[in-house]
Amino acid sequence: MARIVMKFGGTSVADIARIHNVARHVKREVDAGNEVAVVVSAMAGKTNELVGWARDMPKASGGSSPFFDAREYDAIVASGEQVSAGLLAIALQSIGVDARSWQGWQVPIQTDNAHGAARILEIDGSEMVRRMGTGQVAVVTGFQGLAPDNRIATLGRGGSDTSAVAMAAAVKADRCDIYTDVDGVYTTDPRVEPKARRLSRISFEEMLEMASLGAKVLQVRSVELAMVYKVRTFVRSSLEDPDAPGMGDFDNPPGTLICDEEEIVEQQVVTGIAYAKDEAQVSLRRLADRPGVSAGIFGPLAEANINVDMIVQNISEDGSRTDMTFTVPTGDLDKTLNVLDKVREQVGFDAIQSEAGMVKVSVIGIGMRSHAGVAATAFKALAEKGINIRAITTSEIKISILIDGAYAELAVRTLHSVYGLDKQ
Ligand code: ADP
Ligand code: ASP
Ligand code: MG
Repeated sequence: MARIVMKFGGTSVADIARIHNVARHVKREVDAGNEVAVVVSAMAGKTNELVGWARDMPKASGGSSPFFDAREYDAIVASGEQVSAGLLAIALQSIGVDARSWQGWQVPIQTDNAHGAARILEIDGSEMVRRMGTGQVAVVTGFQGLAPDNRIATLGRGGSDTSAVAMAAAVKADRCDIYTDVDGVYTTDPRVEPKARRLSRISFEEMLEMASLGAKVLQVRSVELAMVYKVRTFVRSSLEDPDAPGMGDFDNPPGTLICDEEEIVEQQVVTGIAYAKDEAQVSLRRLADRPGVSAGIFGPLAEANINVDMIVQNISEDGSRTDMTFTVPTGDLDKTLNVLDKVREQVGFDAIQSEAGMVKVSVIGIGMRSHAGVAATAFKALAEKGINIRAITTSEIKISILIDGAYAELAVRTLHSVYGLDKQ
């Protein structure tokens, strides 16, 4: 007998009919003799709605202060998962499967104190596991746990993936299945490029890059946990008929396996293309060129919790002044400009220029470690389409290119095709 954690995302539990369909997927695994824990997200659109209410409330109360209570934010946005967990438990009971819902704090799933972006520290799944041993399915709320201040904490958007993998590690599950609205991980977002191909396997390292560079099919932290705790993780579709042939195949379920590099037989040079929208570019002109300048800029930005991404600094011509460009999420641009204004005198620069609406497109592949010319191919292909490159960063297994937002889809398709990733 095996133990499986099954996670269902928002679109998979979007309405009552889909929740019943999910219940059939769960029943299939239970009938096959497995112990099952299910992790659910909120119904599609629910978390966005709750986030909107939480953010609008200070304004709607007539307040102009930027006051924002992260603990109350968590209390509000965590409620979406409680609803879907309860509904799925009832759907399971209605088809004769013993089930109960568990909220994060009941398990308990312990997190740190970073409300709104908490990390899971520990899961004591003993009582849950005991009940699973009696045949009861545990339906657990994703996205949340209990912080040291004894209050609900949420894990950041897309956090139910992380709840599921962490749960699988904690209960020593044989497999963690992430069910979503696509039937696996593709060479790029299939919504942008219909010619994208499904990958039967992808390495942890590549999936980590894909996720952190914008492919939202898995939350980054979930991939980190799967890699560290060696959780056998599959991405697969919840929208298919739960009883279609092969759906219950234990070793080879339909979908994409996230695994060690060694398990991949035919390694391509480029595995996938990812993109991240809503990047803003900030340039500091005629910046003093002396020790301590970068610290003087990025220290205060970090303290303001601003996530700085690409950083490009020129070599100065005369040894005294230079230019520096970096990117931040568009939502943080105003905050960034405020911080920069405050440090301007002390750090010393002439002007700040900024532009929102940029997109970062990235080419990812482990094969890049041993192949030259991958970057040059990308630059040439983008040039042929008249797409201007604003900034470039690279690592051993990825190249990221900043371009104008208007060219996002064209750039993704162009790169997808130039590396031979298109479906034949
Ligand atoms: P869920 O609600 O199940 O968590 P998400 O919307 O968070 O689902 O993630 C699934 C979506 O991720 C897909 O609908 C797809 O548009 C998007 N996506 C982006 N990049 C990829 C990729 N490389 N492969 C598969 N899906 C991707
Ligand atoms: N419901 C949460 C969100 O929309 C968590 C998740 O779906 O993974 O971000
Ligand atoms: Mg998701």
